[in-house]
Amino acid sequence: MFSLSKVIRPHILSLTPYSSARDEYSGSEGTFLDANENPFGSVISGNYNRYPDPYQSVVKEKLATIKKVRPTQIFLGNGSDEAIDLVIRATCEPQQDNILILPPTYGMYKVCADVQNIAVKQVPLTPDFQVDTKKVLETADANTKIIWICSPNNPSGNIIERASILHILDNFKTGLVVVDEAYIDFASEESFTQLLDKYPNLVVMQTFSKAWGLAALRLGMAFASEEIIKILNKIKYPYNLNGVTQKLLYAALGKEEKKDKYVKQVLKERERLHKKLADLSIVKHIFPSDSNQLLVKFTDANAIFHYLIEQKIITRLRSSVILCENCIRISVGTKKENEILLKALKKY
Ligand SMILES: *Cc1c(COP(=O)(O)O)cnc(C)c1O
Repeated sequence: MFSLSKVIRPHILSLTPYSSARDEYSGSEGTFLDANENPFGSVISGNYNRYPDPYQSVVKEKLATIKKVRPTQIFLGNGSDEAIDLVIRATCEPQQDNILILPPTYGMYKVCADVQNIAVKQVPLTPDFQVDTKKVLETADANTKIIWICSPNNPSGNIIERASILHILDNFKTGLVVVDEAYIDFASEESFTQLLDKYPNLVVMQTFSKAWGLAALRLGMAFASEEIIKILNKIKYPYNLNGVTQKLLYAALGKEEKKDKYVKQVLKERERLHKKLADLSIVKHIFPSDSNQLLVKFTDANAIFHYLIEQKIITRLRSSVILCENCIRISVGTKKENEILLKALKKY
């Protein structure tokens, strides 16, 4: 049986959070003399003089409809990176607890743990970038507070088999299972957000940085039980999402069809890029992708990466990463950008 109070650090459970002016009075009408703001306005045009809603209720209401969850199951952060950091800080006691990651994967899980002096257990993915669930469950110990599953995975690009994730959710009850779905918009699989009511140990993360095209705004989402979201809200900076970002997000949420159109374009370009890359003799293998990245094995990734840099074409060299020997990760660009890359590779 999963018990959240055994997973959250005891002092976080009992901590009294900062109570902001907007916590103590959350109405929007009235004469506001409570937050020491400038009552006249801002020094630049636009009204930025009032503190924003600390819980982003208006945007969460709209997002909840799109994601088919309840607003109380949503945490919004300054990038997913904020959510990653907070989930670790809520659960892991430094020098005592640990997290478990499945390399090759997104780098921030380990960095956030390292910053807090929290041990990181690693169970590599299989050569086809799937999860060795038996090994994962054997490696997790009584102090493992989080198992991170990135699906579709970065840098390999593939979706993790649904049955593997379910198996871990069903059998790891002493901590949280975080499914990072930063690239879910590009995949044909359904999101794990629809299983939140079934799995109190589940946290799903998504982001506006990829398919939605809002990386500069820094907007990440975490979906979990109302109890977990309450803990994250308790330890976040009170006004973690600024008012400008909240307004822009509200507008963006009305443009879901445009996001879907971008996704279609990316998928079409990904297929084209894949086909053309496969024709090149310097390309040894292209891993199947359910995202907007292609992990490509070359004859000599280091030399090719630096050759591309000389042409001002910037890709991500992954050759020193486990299971990614001689690999370069390529983000799918526009047709024009992909052509520039292909032309340079042909000349190599
Ligand atoms: C890009 C990416 C993110 C997004 O992080 P943000 O802080 O929201 O920009 C999260 N997880 C993975 C696996 C990613 O590749």
